[in-house]
Amino acid sequence: MLEGYGGNIGVLSGNDGLVLVDDQFEPLAGKIKTALSAINNKPVKFIINTHFHFDHSDGNKILGREGAVIVAHENVRKRLSTDQFIAAFTIEQKAYAYDALPKITFSESVTFNMNGETVQVFHVKNAHTDGDAIIYFKESDVMHTGDVFVRYGLPFIDMTGGGNVDGMLAAIDQLLVLINDNTIIIPGHGPLSNKKDLQNYKDMVETVRGRVAEGIKNGKTLDQIIDANPVKEYKTIFDKTEFVRIVYNSIKR
Ligand SMILES: [Zn+2]
Repeated sequence: MLEGYGGNIGVLSGNDGLVLVDDQFEPLAGKIKTALSAINNKPVKFIINTHFHFDHSDGNKILGREGAVIVAHENVRKRLSTDQFIAAFTIEQKAYAYDALPKITFSESVTFNMNGETVQVFHVKNAHTDGDAIIYFKESDVMHTGDVFVRYGLPFIDMTGGGNVDGMLAAIDQLLVLINDNTIIIPGHGPLSNKKDLQNYKDMVETVRGRVAEGIKNGKTLDQIIDANPVKEYKTIFDKTEFVRIVYNSIKR
């Protein structure tokens, strides 16, 4: 795992060349390449984008042009091909040039057999976005979750990008079945984690969802639910009320 300013980068190294999971920001590409050459001087053959957000995929603009084949869920290519507006942050993400787009897309799953590793890449529906991929390095028992799982507290769910809270909870359940107590998890952001961390994260999201759903059932308005502070014991790097709003809108939909 390489850490930097954007999402965590997963690196699979060996005689077949490098496989990256995500590639952070464009200006960091030089630093990423330096860090990779310290691991292995072979070229980057494939980059798997966990989703379309720029803090995970902007490095495509450099590495894609230099010949790495970018692989992602089909909705990631759709979104990267057109201007995107991430409403919660009022951020516009401009369409990528051809070289920065995925060359290979999949709808359900795809498997890489490289460097002696079985790399299972599969889609989880409408979780953090509508194009999330989970990457499981089977023999090493290492999983990269993208932003379906993060360690900064309450997550961001990109509803304009096709995510919703129930999809995220369903995705986490899928992952919990697949992993064991020894699995190393690379979260979208934050330190290396394990199954217990993922379980705690699920409990947090589920608790907040339960409280918001209860408020809706009791006829409360969004403002009344926000005032009741259903996220009180949890932290996040974002605006806390925004998460309540997202959960509320997810359920209402
Ligand atoms: Zn993201």
